Amino acid sequence: KTRQKGKKKKKNINLNQSKKQSVSFVCLTCHEKEEIPLSVVRDFDLMDDGDPTTPPMFSCEKCGGRMYPEYYEGVHGIKYRLSDIL
Ligand SMILES: [Zn+2]
Repeated sequence: KTRQKGKKKKKNINLNQSKKQSVSFVCLTCHEKEEIPLSVVRDFDLMDDGDPTTPPMFSCEKCGGRMYPEYYEGVHGIKYRLSDIL
């Protein structure tokens, strides 16, 4: 018998999410607005172990500028608001 112990596979993939949550991101340059699924934003947030005071940011498809969340509560419990930096 071979027992595979200590091998932890941590994969949380929810393909059928019942909650459809998303975060609104606004481009700081051209003010283009984009809805990004919360799960994607969280993944981004978790991967980025840099400065926790900076929210995950995406680049604008129109101008390549940085997109800031209109409102987002990060994985570290920090709330980011676009109005805070404007
Ligand atoms: Zn833009």
